[in-house]
Amino acid sequence: MKQNIHDVLIVGGGLVGASLACALEGRGLDVVLVESEPARPPMIADTDARSLGLAAASLNALAALGVWRHLANLPAPIRRIHVSRRGDFGTVLLRADEYGREAFGGVVAAPALGAALQARLRELRGLHHRVGAKLVALRESDDRREAEIAHGDAVEAIAARLVIGADGTQSAVRQAVGIDASTHDYAQHLFAGSVRATRPADGQAWERFTDSGPVALLPRAGGDYGCICTVATADAARVAALDGGGFIAELQTRFGWRAGRFVAVGRRSAHPLRQLVAQRIVAPRVVLMGNAAQTLHPVGAQGFNLGLRDALTLAELLREVRGGDIGQAGVLDEYARRRAEDRAQTLRFSDGLARLTSNPAMPLRLLRSVGLGALASSSGLRARFAGGAMGFRGRVPDLARDETVVLENER
Ligand SMILES: Cc1cc2nc3c(=O)[nH]c(=O)nc-3n(C[C@H](O)[C@H](O)[C@H](O)COP(=O)(O)OP(=O)(O)OC[C@H]3O[C@@H](n4cnc5c(N)ncnc54)[C@H](O)[C@@H]3O)c2cc1C
Repeated sequence: MKQNIHDVLIVGGGLVGASLACALEGRGLDVVLVESEPARPPMIADTDARSLGLAAASLNALAALGVWRHLANLPAPIRRIHVSRRGDFGTVLLRADEYGREAFGGVVAAPALGAALQARLRELRGLHHRVGAKLVALRESDDRREAEIAHGDAVEAIAARLVIGADGTQSAVRQAVGIDASTHDYAQHLFAGSVRATRPADGQAWERFTDSGPVALLPRAGGDYGCICTVATADAARVAALDGGGFIAELQTRFGWRAGRFVAVGRRSAHPLRQLVAQRIVAPRVVLMGNAAQTLHPVGAQGFNLGLRDALTLAELLREVRGGDIGQAGVLDEYARRRAEDRAQTLRFSDGLARLTSNPAMPLRLLRSVGLGALASSSGLRARFAGGAMGFRGRVPDLARDETVVLENER
C-alpha cells in the first residue's frame, strides 16, 4: 500500500510548536502536529503561575497569527524598564517613548497564552492535530522521515518531508538525529507568581539583580505584578515551604521598596534553571526550534520570544519554496543561516546577564557597576538593549514587523 507522505510533522505542541502550526496555515502545506500530553501541555497549564514578557515583535506576530483575539485580557504594556542591582548605586531607566514606541512589549499570563493558542489551533483548517501522541522513533530515508508515534499502546507510522523538533529541552527529535547539546546548570530555582503592592503596576517593569539571582516585577492588567524571585537551589526547599506572608517577606527583602509594600501574593510555581544549547539546529529533513534548540535562563524574558522568531522564520522560508522539496538540504541550510545571528546574540545576552549579575566575586562586581554605568550613560548601548527587549534582533521576520497590536487600556 502506498504510504501518505505529509509535508510537515511538528513534534511538540507547546508555545513554539503551536505557534508554528498557526504560522504555516494557508501555505498549502499538509501539516501534522503531535503533542504527547493528553490535555494542555504542562508549561502552559493552569498550574503555571508565570507571567510572560512578550517583546513588541512577538505581539505583532501573535496578532498577525490570529492568536490575539482569543486572549481574554489583552497584554499589559511594558512602557518602562527599571534596572538596578542590590548593593550597587547605579540604576537605569529605559523608556519606550525614547525610541518612538508605545511599549517595549506586553505581559500575559502563561496559561492564558496557552489557552489562546489552543483555541487558534482548533480553528486551523486541514491541521492534523494529535494529542496524547508521543514520538518514539524517527528514521531517515531518501525523500522523507518516518516517525513512530505512540498513542498509549498503539503505534502509528507518520511520514513527512520535514520534521520539526519543537519538543522542548529533552527533545526526542534532537536525540533521534544525534545532535549533541551543551548544558549548564545555573544552580538556581525561580519562583514565579503574582503580587499586589501599594504602588500599583503602571506600565513599569523592574529588574533587580542580587547575589543569588534576579528578582523582577512585570506589570499585569488590573494593577498587580507578575513576579519572579530566583534563589540558589540549595535554598529552594526553604522558599517552596514558605506561606504567603513568608514569601512576601522574602520578596520584600530581595526586591526592596521601590514598588511600595507587597500586600498579597497569588499561587506560585517553581522552575529549576538550566541552559541547553544544541550544537546544530538542522539535520537531514529535521529542524530544531524553541527549547529543543536552545533553553535559556529566563532573566531577559527571551526564550519564547526567540522560539517564536524561529517558527516565523521557518514559515517565511517555506513560503518561498514554491513547488520544490521543502525538506531539501538547501532549505535547511538557509534556515540555519537566517537564525544564526539572532540566536547567538540572544544566547549571549541571556547567559551573560544570568552569570554576570548573580556572581558576588569582587572583579565581577566592579564590571557590573561599570556595565550599569555604561548602560545609563551610553545612548547607543541603551538603544541596542531596547532593540533586544523589543525583539528586533538580526533579520526580523515579516510577520513580526506589522504594528497592528492594541494593548490593555488602549481599547
Ligand atoms: C520561569 C520561566 C519564565 C519564563 N519567562 C519567559 C518570558 O517572560 N518570556 C519569554 O519569551 N520566555 C520565557 N520563558 C521561556 C519560555 O517558557 C520557553 O522558551 C517556551 O515555553 C519554550 O516553548 P517550547 O514550545 O519550545 O517548549 P516546551 O514548552 O517545553 O514544549 C515542548 C512540548 O513538546 C511536548 N513533547 C515533548 N516530548 C514529546 C514527544 N516525544 N512527542 C510529542 N510531544 C512531545 C511537551 O509535552 C511540550 O508540550 C520562561 C521560562 C521559564 C522557565
